[in-house]
Amino acid sequence: MSNCIFCKIIDGEIPSAKVYEDELIYIFKDIEPQVKVHLLAIPKKHITSLDELTAEDEQAIGHIFSTVAKLSEEFGITEGYRVISNCKDHGGQTVGHVHFHVLGGEKLPMNII
Ligand code: AMP
Ligand code: ZN
Repeated sequence: MSNCIFCKIIDGEIPSAKVYEDELIYIFKDIEPQVKVHLLAIPKKHITSLDELTAEDEQAIGHIFSTVAKLSEEFGITEGYRVISNCKDHGGQTVGHVHFHVLGGEKLPMNII
């Protein structure tokens, strides 16, 4: 998607604080962290919102969760974390490329994101 900021981050056109990348997914630090550790995990494929996911996206989406689990020590979230994805306007989505907020590094309040 030519005007998608997260696609531009994946392509390196917009700088980001990358913490992990492979052929399917990209994980980087949120520019406005809400808690001590606030990462964004995204599929490299442009998918506008969660409600556009199809069966062919299951590998990438599942891979996001297993990768966060595998790298929890490196990310500083071994004591636990929260994963949130906002879908479209009513869900509070502001960037139109599916993303999962990975929040941790401290005891989280219940009203976050
Ligand atoms: P959401 O409101 O769920 O769509 O989340 C979008 C998130 O993207 C927000 O937490 C923003 O702080 C974050 N964000 C927007 N632009 C950037 C950027 N250039 N680099 C890193 N995070 C960003
Ligand atoms: Zn995109």
